[in-house]
Amino acid sequence: MTAAASALVLDLVLTVRHDGRGGVADDLADTEGLAAWIRDHADGIDEAVVGAPLDERAAVAVRDLRTAVRSLFARAVSPGPPSRADGSRLLPAGVATARLNAAAAAVPVVPVLRWPEDGEPVADLVPAGGPGGVPGGSAGGPGGSGIGPGGSAGGPGDGLAGHPLTAVLARAAIAFLAGPDRSRLRACHAPRCVRYFLKDHPRQEWCKPACGNRARVARHHERHRTDG
Ligand SMILES: [Zn+2]
Repeated sequence: MTAAASALVLDLVLTVRHDGRGGVADDLADTEGLAAWIRDHADGIDEAVVGAPLDERAAVAVRDLRTAVRSLFARAVSPGPPSRADGSRLLPAGVATARLNAAAAAVPVVPVLRWPEDGEPVADLVPAGGPGGVPGGSAGGPGGSGIGPGGSAGGPGDGLAGHPLTAVLARAAIAFLAGPDRSRLRACHAPRCVRYFLKDHPRQEWCKPACGNRARVARHHERHRTDG
């Protein structure tokens, strides 16, 4: 679960990306973008969740959740600086944590064992009672007490009211942040790069070799500028 959770949550965060022209693009800017992203990640997400209906509210909820995750990523890489894509959009850690916890708790799930003939067994978390289903109405009942575990923020008014996808992504984020991979998380500070990445070896400084090359070129120019 941990490796898959790490990959999923990192990919969610990387939907905020450099647009190739010095700005920042958002792959989840609309429902079509979200649907495409889900199709690309269908292997790591239970099919009941993949098939759950998407609307603009779901896209807003996923983006809100992503903001919370990016805010906690910023905390995870501190005292280093966060990705430069976030600027002033980061949430205080308490608000981000509450939003994450509320999203994770919004849809009850059950673990389901999946053991492919040619692979390792995997525990999928499946929404109890099917996509969007809340059997027994125990969670988020009428009149919503509104205060889930972790605090009052992130209630229904926060746009996170119980889409199974946000619940799955929030759980993946929790698993990642509380797991061993968090210590390898870094923000890439190569020119124009806004990515977070998992450091694979001790001296790795950049998310990929192309970023290292760009950073070296930039340093070279900087040196010549100051020398001259
Ligand atoms: Zn990079």
